[in-house]
Amino acid sequence: MQPKPNIVHLPVYQPGKPVDDVKRELGLTEVLKLASNENPFGSSPKAKEAIARELDNISIYPDGAAVELTNALAKHHGVNTDQIIFGAGSDEIILMIARAYLASGDETIMADQTFPQYKHNAQIENAKIIEVPLKEGTHDLYAMLEQVTDKTKVVWVCNPNNPTGTINTSDEVEWFLSKVPAHVLVVLDEAYCEYLVDPSYPDGLALLQKYPNVILLRTFSKIFGLASLRIGYGIGRPDVIRSINQVREPFNTSRFGQAAALAALQDEDFIAFCREENRKGLAFFNQAFEELGLKAFPAHGNFIMVDVQRSGQEVFDALLRKGVIVRAGHKLYPTSIRITVGSQEQNEKVIAALKAVLQEIAVKV
Ligand SMILES: *Cc1c(COP(=O)(O)O)cnc(C)c1O
Repeated sequence: MQPKPNIVHLPVYQPGKPVDDVKRELGLTEVLKLASNENPFGSSPKAKEAIARELDNISIYPDGAAVELTNALAKHHGVNTDQIIFGAGSDEIILMIARAYLASGDETIMADQTFPQYKHNAQIENAKIIEVPLKEGTHDLYAMLEQVTDKTKVVWVCNPNNPTGTINTSDEVEWFLSKVPAHVLVVLDEAYCEYLVDPSYPDGLALLQKYPNVILLRTFSKIFGLASLRIGYGIGRPDVIRSINQVREPFNTSRFGQAAALAALQDEDFIAFCREENRKGLAFFNQAFEELGLKAFPAHGNFIMVDVQRSGQEVFDALLRKGVIVRAGHKLYPTSIRITVGSQEQNEKVIAALKAVLQEIAVKV
């Protein structure tokens, strides 16, 4: 048996190290994981109550079209119900976009250090991948536009970009959309948009009104704190949503995911609290890095990428031994680590651990 030649070299996704494994391997009792951009405050209690109410229905298939949640989200965003599609996380929306729009020989454009699922799914469809270098950690939309040809099908813009945390402004994105030909689908991945406090961040919904070839990706995994329930969504023009719906599995989101998302969406106090704590956390990190003489990219999501001026992998390993899990191993930023913003107490712990580690490891020149 031979699998498709274009998948044989694909890596199997390496998740952040599970807390329990680290505890066991290193004999630690307390481990702090700030590696997967999860919500340090958990999720809304209303979401947990909604899940409890669904417990008696687990033998019944979920509503494949997620009608109730679709109606609530359509109202929330001021769009029509035929403009929304759900996935098992926005990861699955990315997969479905690739499945619906990319075939062998098609071209797709993305940044050279961005969310890995764009490239991964484009490779599975055997599309030709064009990676455009980030400029100071930010999508270079001018250079990306230059790569557009008649064969370009999909352009991926991760805003804020994961792992750098930088944003493209409203003016930049609008300029880009005004120039991109109509046959190109532009994916604006806004997984962290609810965290944004910078007024120059684009209003994706307003852009969608103006440019029919846009699809917005959103998720309940980040600020809503429902990562384990696997639910995210796309907002686009009805014809785009219909095409993606044609490749969707019938029951791709669960009862628990749908019910929890509906409740979480309505808990505005919880969202506002998480956004504000995150803002304070980013300010704390920026201040701490400045005091340590380290440079970080301007962070807008719930994570920050900092240049530790040493092998990121070595710093990662040393932090791990102190019971702190972060992310390293970003191919273009080998001396950087990415840290998820935690609670104030967690943020203080990671900075204390980092201070100690920086003493232990020599600066890389
Ligand atoms: C976390 C993340 C997602 C998707 O998360 P799901 O849990 O699959 O919804 C999508 N894009 C980016 C940039 C992310 O960081």
